[in-house]
Amino acid sequence: MSEEDRLGILVDAVKRRVSHIDVELKAIGSFIDLCCERKEPFPPPYTKLILSHHDFNNPLTLSELSEIILKMRGYGPSVIAKIAMAANSAMDNICVFRALQKHALNDGYPCVIIAMGEFGQPSRIAAAKYGGYLTFASVSEGNESAPGQVDLQTLLNVFRFRSISPSTPLYAVLGDPVKQSMSPALHNASMALCELDAAYLPARVEAASYVEFVRAAVDLGFKGMSVTIPGKVPVMDAMNEMDDVAKQIGAMNTVVVSEHEELKTKSLKGYNTDWVAAMSAVEEAVKDGTGLNGKRVVCLGAGGAGRALAFGALARGAASVVVVNRSVEKAQALAKDLGEKATGMSMEEFNSNGVEFDVLMNSTSVGMFPNEGDSPVVADKICEGTVVFDAVYNPLQTKLLKEAEERGCVTVSGMEMFVRQAAEQFKLWFPNVQPPVGTMRQVVLNKLKSK
Ligand code: NAP
Repeated sequence: MSEEDRLGILVDAVKRRVSHIDVELKAIGSFIDLCCERKEPFPPPYTKLILSHHDFNNPLTLSELSEIILKMRGYGPSVIAKIAMAANSAMDNICVFRALQKHALNDGYPCVIIAMGEFGQPSRIAAAKYGGYLTFASVSEGNESAPGQVDLQTLLNVFRFRSISPSTPLYAVLGDPVKQSMSPALHNASMALCELDAAYLPARVEAASYVEFVRAAVDLGFKGMSVTIPGKVPVMDAMNEMDDVAKQIGAMNTVVVSEHEELKTKSLKGYNTDWVAAMSAVEEAVKDGTGLNGKRVVCLGAGGAGRALAFGALARGAASVVVVNRSVEKAQALAKDLGEKATGMSMEEFNSNGVEFDVLMNSTSVGMFPNEGDSPVVADKICEGTVVFDAVYNPLQTKLLKEAEERGCVTVSGMEMFVRQAAEQFKLWFPNVQPPVGTMRQVVLNKLKSK
């Protein structure tokens, strides 16, 4: 189709008074000429004109976005300015939000600004918070007409797009990857059930951008964040204050923003709800009601989750903690950080010699999908009457938990830790609202079943 035929269709549409037409900024001169030729007034009196600019290769800066918007405004005050740009960093959303805030919210210009690709997804979901005129969604998953589009059902039912307004506080999970995260479904369902004016987005944030992104997002009205891999350590540098246990663990997963209205400042505090969640699930499983107090605990794994479990166990009064890890030097280093009640050993040593324990907690990824046939421990090292917890939650019943159950142990699934860490986050963000734990659990179960 020739360019003239293409523009001709748009002039025809104007003649038929369609509600909106979308003309590329670079074609507007030819479009006006054609309107003149066909005796159609410009700007069209009955049709809203979207002027658009696309850059599929490069993100644009705030000043570049402003320059294009002002140029578009030169074609009439009712023109809707639309810019879609490539995104290759979480910070590109910040640029979009700032441009929308300035031109759409503050100046009242109708604008659509979108960052494309997975990095740009927050700009599509949260457009209305910053006065965006509209957003684009795909008809269904797999039918996206541009990279990063969310399908309509998810946009409306999971992200509750229509309930987001400039007054809506935003929350987000930051991670990379973040696509697989169940947190947006869980927290949005909970916010909806509790009738909270709040929305929760997934934000892919690359490791180098955590500090900058978090500070900028808070400036733009984000009220809280969940943080997952790889951000749990780097994000600590953006905090004004750290919770004591999170500081000891050396990793956090929750950002809480407090506003000091008189001083017109905001402060950020970092928490680690992973340990509280795991400990409460394990303590509930200890039949004599004494929780972890005085218990001999074995922690398999010395990664991020391993640190949370080991420090958590001591914080709850464990008598001793044996850290067992494939790389023995990491087990020993963690044991040193934990202090005199802890020792470190290798997996081989544990599996050949064994250690007496009351509670065993796995935080290695052994047994996780797609390696469901693996277990980190030799089955005969697990004794009847002990409590066995596995942080892995996909599958729900790992080989470790199955073998422990067969040996008469009380078992606790990682799903409980996941649900409880989210419930603890919810409590920190909404201290006056009871977290709907049943709904949270159901959302996670549904997600896991559909995988
Ligand atoms: P991480 O920091 O990467 O640590 C991974 C741990 O697994 C390390 O101790 C590593 O040992 C060990 N490991 C990995 N592959 C192994 C293998 N083939 N054999 C023996 N050990 C192996 O990860 P993370 O953040 O701690 O997460 C660990 C697990 O916990 C993941 O499965 C994650 O899904 C789960 N998790 C669950 C929740 C929840 O809410 N339920 C929360 C956080 C994490 P080396 O040090 O020798 O590499």
